[in-house]
Amino acid sequence: MADAAGIDAVRVWSVPMRTRFRGLDVRDGVLVRGPAGWGEFSPFWDYDVAESRRWWAAAVESAVAGWPPPLRATVPVNVTVPAVGADRAHALVAASGCRTAKVKVAEPGQTPADDLARVEAVRDALGPDGAIRVDANAAWDVDTAVARVRELDRVGLEYVEQPCAGLDELAALRRRVDVRIAADEAVRRSADPLRVDLREACDVVVLKVQPLGGVRAALRVAEAHGLPCVVSSALESSVGIAAGLALAAALPELPFACGLATVALFRGDVTSTPLLPVDGALPVLRVAPDRLGDAAADPATEARWRARLAAVTAA
Ligand SMILES: [Mg+2]
Repeated sequence: MADAAGIDAVRVWSVPMRTRFRGLDVRDGVLVRGPAGWGEFSPFWDYDVAESRRWWAAAVESAVAGWPPPLRATVPVNVTVPAVGADRAHALVAASGCRTAKVKVAEPGQTPADDLARVEAVRDALGPDGAIRVDANAAWDVDTAVARVRELDRVGLEYVEQPCAGLDELAALRRRVDVRIAADEAVRRSADPLRVDLREACDVVVLKVQPLGGVRAALRVAEAHGLPCVVSSALESSVGIAAGLALAAALPELPFACGLATVALFRGDVTSTPLLPVDGALPVLRVAPDRLGDAAADPATEARWRARLAAVTAA
């Protein structure tokens, strides 16, 4: 269990999403304050106590231990495009100022034609020099993935994130398509992210601070696999995003834009200085939640998070 000594404040936050994302209309979580600053604990509600302990370790690291020194002052980021219609996707990308877009595909209730129209609109908005990656969240079997990836790659894909669930499936797909494969769920939801065997399965590793148990734990995962890494958010407030930026800033190599511009998916934030990209990049800095009043949780949400925190921190 992470040593939470020194944590002297706990605050629950809640913010509506602009567009339904990952099945969520509202995002909420807990912020904790310690000697090093604020940390975020916001495991999704479908994560059990055992899996949520890594998320708590990340919050404690942020609040108590702090982060390793940064190697860079800014981090290039992608605009994240939910499973919206083509017109809205085009507008989101054009307004973002980002040169890389991550596009959700294979969303339940949507067709392959919807996905293709969305990535075509994103390509139109980015122009030929922009980079497009798609994330299927493990939705496809191998044959479906082969067909979908080849079709979507008509617009030119930088990589496809977690097209299939299993490592064997990812390896089989990787032998059949030319597009790079990125592993996300296969790493962060495995029992031991350090020891999962990625050698045949992917070309890129997606790192997320909270699911991997903190910035240092994620750096160890990067080192263990020796593959190019992308840092993505777990849809945190700007306090949690700052930890993702600390990880991206501490990686020896950062060859791809990171998925840390997701505060743009929120209708609000916990701070007067939200981490929204300017010219496709975010600054590496700590964030204090000076606008918790703008992100207040209702009493039921407050009680639910307090109970969850008690369960996860119980010995
Ligand atoms: Mg993903």
